[in-house]
Amino acid sequence: MLTDSTLPYPALHASHSGIWICGSDGVSRAIGKGEAIGCVAETPHILLNAPLMGQRLGYPDLSGLDLLELFAFIHPAQFVVPTPAGLAKTLGLEPAGQEADIAKLYRLAADHLLAGLQAPHWPEREGAWSSAQAMYRMRWPWAAEVSKRLTKPAEAERWLFSKLEEWEEETPRPAPRAVTMDESATLAQLNSLTGKGSEEREGQKSYASAVAKIFEPRRVKGAPNMLLAEAGTGIGKTLGYLAPASLWSAEAGGAVWISTFTKALQRQLDRETRRIYPDEEIFRKKVVVRKGRENYLCLLNLEDALQGGFAGRAAILAHLVARWAAYSKDGDMVGGDLPGWLTTLFRRNGATALTDRRGECVYAGCPHYRKCFIEKAARASQQADIVIANHALVMVNAARGREQQNAPTRLIFDEGHHLFDAADSMFAARLSGQEAIEIRRWVIGPESKNRGRRRGLAARLADLASYDDEGGRAIESARHAAEALPSDGWLQRLSESEPFGPVEALLGEVRHMVFARDESQSADAGYGLETELTDVEGPMIDAVANAAEAIDALLKPLVRLGQRIEHLIEEGPDWMDAPARARMEGALSSLGWRCDTLSGWLALLSRIGGPADPDFVDWLMIDRFEGREYDIGICRHWLDPTIPVTEVVMKPAHGLMITSATLKGGGDWETARARSGAVHLDQTVQEFEVPSPFNYADQAKVIIVTDVKRGDMAGLAGAYAQLIEASGGGTLGLFTAIRRLRTVYARIADRMAQSGLPIYAQHVDPIDTGTLVDIFRDDPKASLLGTDALRDGVDVPGRSLRLVVMESVPWPRPDILHKARRIAGGGTAYDDRIIRARLAQAFGRIIRRADDHGHFVILSSAFPSRLLTAFPEGTPIERMPLAQALAEIKAAKSKTGQSSLSPDISFGHDAPQRDKTDDKSGGI
Ligand code: SF4
Repeated sequence: MLTDSTLPYPALHASHSGIWICGSDGVSRAIGKGEAIGCVAETPHILLNAPLMGQRLGYPDLSGLDLLELFAFIHPAQFVVPTPAGLAKTLGLEPAGQEADIAKLYRLAADHLLAGLQAPHWPEREGAWSSAQAMYRMRWPWAAEVSKRLTKPAEAERWLFSKLEEWEEETPRPAPRAVTMDESATLAQLNSLTGKGSEEREGQKSYASAVAKIFEPRRVKGAPNMLLAEAGTGIGKTLGYLAPASLWSAEAGGAVWISTFTKALQRQLDRETRRIYPDEEIFRKKVVVRKGRENYLCLLNLEDALQGGFAGRAAILAHLVARWAAYSKDGDMVGGDLPGWLTTLFRRNGATALTDRRGECVYAGCPHYRKCFIEKAARASQQADIVIANHALVMVNAARGREQQNAPTRLIFDEGHHLFDAADSMFAARLSGQEAIEIRRWVIGPESKNRGRRRGLAARLADLASYDDEGGRAIESARHAAEALPSDGWLQRLSESEPFGPVEALLGEVRHMVFARDESQSADAGYGLETELTDVEGPMIDAVANAAEAIDALLKPLVRLGQRIEHLIEEGPDWMDAPARARMEGALSSLGWRCDTLSGWLALLSRIGGPADPDFVDWLMIDRFEGREYDIGICRHWLDPTIPVTEVVMKPAHGLMITSATLKGGGDWETARARSGAVHLDQTVQEFEVPSPFNYADQAKVIIVTDVKRGDMAGLAGAYAQLIEASGGGTLGLFTAIRRLRTVYARIADRMAQSGLPIYAQHVDPIDTGTLVDIFRDDPKASLLGTDALRDGVDVPGRSLRLVVMESVPWPRPDILHKARRIAGGGTAYDDRIIRARLAQAFGRIIRRADDHGHFVILSSAFPSRLLTAFPEGTPIERMPLAQALAEIKAAKSKTGQSSLSPDISFGHDAPQRDKTDDKSGGI
């Protein structure tokens, strides 16, 4: 039974099954939407996740005393599952037995959290008083209650920027020694990592031995020791490669880079590498997580936001982010220890402006350079033994020649089946309005009454301009030439056929041509449009020539400026101390990146009207969503993007492995070789395969439902609802189109909530995908609907995931790029390879451990039998009508349900897989 809070505020809870209010007298009652909206508009209410609750209420402007904001203030850099049950669990409160009690729980949770402010050993006290004062002035709804409970510290609190540690410059690491890997030592290392008494896994041992060979000394320059390895789920792949990697690193004194695609795997690796270095201090030196710079908080941007650059809600977010930054492990705002839900509470208001997305970093010219999270991570990785990175970062560093001294030579690409797609986006060129306006802003700086510290090239390189006339003239010419690029309001001008300047004129022609040639029937549906770049004539040719001239006029002074900076660095004038030199080097690197982009645009334009380059696929596009245009441009992708990856990443490496549970994508080695780029290497590439140890015949079943008609949305929604009910939740619903996902969700959400089976959906709920998965994992009765990102970014072992439902065969979207690759890749066989890979990935979500059981249901009677090889050997597969499928799933539920459906046991099962930040939140 819940006791009551003493706070004078009422609380509100809204879900798909109803709305409840708990008054300051502690009495709860159900109310209607209209009354609820009236109440919250009049008095601030305690609530949980205002954007989500506002959506449930149909009142998007809902605001109030959000418990998540209070949690973020009191426990920065800690995680809580943002649901009533998650909050109760973290705070050690009794969960609400029924939805009607949740509003009352909110009042208690608020009491509990606020009491923490007066706890004698509150570890995050430093800085709280000053933040609360500032947030009081900003009218943060909690500020009055928080301030009441905080006493002014006797001594002034250290300001965030003085509290953070500085990084130290260290001598560059010598090149690694050549060592020969000893198999018995590799196995001994594996044994010590898996722990005494753990079950001997033959598959894992042979995998570790195969991986060790990539660390042998390389025989020929340009020909790395390379291994393609498919290791079925459950083999213990991560420890299987960490054993030889850590051994080599210790003996050779070099770093091994482990590149992942999903954040889930990065988190897992962060946990698993602790086994190698159990001492926390050593671990922090030896293992470093690296991400792209746009993931990290930029302290200069934060300072600007705190000092008036942000207003209203965005300013409150900035203060909560500052609280977090003071306690964060590494300043990573995306997937690090900043709770994913925090920025969505502010409707992403301002969060992106706190990172360095536009390459405006002033490096050593920044007062926080020595404390900068990005610089800290880059330096730490120079000394680390294991660097956990992602495919995009590895490629971007290699392609842009960044961190050459620290370039990875031993690489393990886990989730290697994503390498192709990661390379596809990395090496693509796009001349679009949004891209062009970014370059204009980078060169010119703010042109309107923009707040913020953004500055143009002239301001950033003022010292160079005053010392070097030629450099100064180059900056001035670039500034002048950049005026030919699109500026604010360009989309509006294009829609009114009034472009300004040669590049806008070109984009106007692109828009005109795309609409004229569209045959997709989607012009009226309001979604993206594209057309091939062929048979171009007349006005388009003229527009291309004018735009190319304007782009060339910008490229030339930028190249000249780069040469002047290089010259200056070599010359080393008196005024150029180490910080100024570092800033010049930083400027050179971002100039190089812009020059590459502009050269790519010129190459793209030069082909218009001429012969096509067989290595590339070019097309024109309009990016739209629900009728609104976001971008217009010309795109160029490599027909095979693994060609540049092979050149810039693979050939320079000494040892390299590409591994995945589905590397062959349910197909053959030919697929793996083609999708990984191995076909472009001259030497023989080793191949290794070990099947999953799971007993799929007993643990899983594939059901193809034969009586849900294609295109029957009511039937599809009904099938989803019945399947979720039969399974008692624990369902991951995968869709190939956002529109169908939304329709199904809208039809079933209320019904499911009334059955006590909450349902969440990507693209519908205002919650980031990572948090949605956390919520899903935490509640065995919850279900989650989503699209591609959930197909293999979800690692939910145990009862929380026992049913995967795919709405249809995941055919590739027949866009221009796909059509070109399909022709080059063998037509139907190419499509089949893609579909099999997608099915194998989706199926892989169900059985994550030896005691998992589950069903994989496809709601498509037209499922071709030739695709059935996508599933692991021995998996039972049966076609049947929906009613029979429901009966089977219900029977399976009652068979396995009694022993594992109790929430206590379910949470216990999930615990080892949870993000470690979850553990920290216990016992608050
Ligand atoms: S060094 Fe650059 S990224 Fe780091 S805080 Fe300063 S401006 Fe931001």
